[in-house]
Amino acid sequence: ILLFWFVAGSISGPVRRLCEAARGIGEKKFQKVETKATVKELCELEDEINQMQDKLLKADEAERVFFQNASHELRTPVAVILAQCEYALGNAGNTEELKEALEVIQRQGYRMSRLIETLLTLTRIEQNTGYYPMEKANISSLAEDACRDMRLSAGHGIAIETEIADNVYAEINPQLFCLMLDNLLKNACRYGRENGKIKVTLRVKSNEIELKVADDGIGIGERDLPHIWERFYRGGNSRGKKGMGLGLSLVQQIVRYQQGRITVSSAVGEGTEFCIIFEKVREEK
Ligand code: ADP
Repeated sequence: ILLFWFVAGSISGPVRRLCEAARGIGEKKFQKVETKATVKELCELEDEINQMQDKLLKADEAERVFFQNASHELRTPVAVILAQCEYALGNAGNTEELKEALEVIQRQGYRMSRLIETLLTLTRIEQNTGYYPMEKANISSLAEDACRDMRLSAGHGIAIETEIADNVYAEINPQLFCLMLDNLLKNACRYGRENGKIKVTLRVKSNEIELKVADDGIGIGERDLPHIWERFYRGGNSRGKKGMGLGLSLVQQIVRYQQGRITVSSAVGEGTEFCIIFEKVREEK
């Protein structure tokens, strides 16, 4: 009886503690569990629960930071809009001043609209609601179009060169593909240098498609490089430049959604190159 009592105790104690830990997870109380179990299976379960707690804790923290950043990004334009409205209604003396106030309100409105649109796209991609169906598309012509459009607004004397293989097909969502390329090109212009050059290359390598966007701009510092994919992260080189720190996290989400991979290499003062790899579908003449 004593032996039975000892064995039952050495199992039921750890099981109880594991149950408590599992219940705690449901209530978002993440606390490491230590059962001192001797049974192999219980030790494995303990490890699993502790690892799951770590992951959930990180996700919880990321969610908190995300909402904090998103609210901060929205609070600033709202404050400016309200201040301008107050000024326009109370103090604006003539049509010119009213027009100026309206222009500020419009700029901030656009900023908010861009932010909301990006957050909505990120959520739709993440939840995979079927909003962005995949299809076999000619990415050569999509890339050519994106570069042509960007040439019109690049500014600073920046030239966009292309080396795009004809009729390359990939399984993508055309809307997201264009958004991805547009973000990379905009960044290449924003962080490019006066009279600089951007090169877009699309080529097929055995079973893969390689899409590169390279610029000869200011480059990314070593310390910033691992963080550029994080939401709302802005590098040291972005001071005084437009942006919200969401472009590259959106690009990364889009690439993953389309089953691709993205890498970056950069050198300060020399330039940056983003390389995206997709699976090849088939080439059509
Ligand atoms: P942002 O709105 O700040 O451009 P992104 O998410 O697009 O946000 O990029 C994150 C950071 O990565 C930028 O703040 C910048 O520091 C860096 N970055 C992105 N693209 C480039 C580039 N082509 N050249 C240099 N730095 C870049």
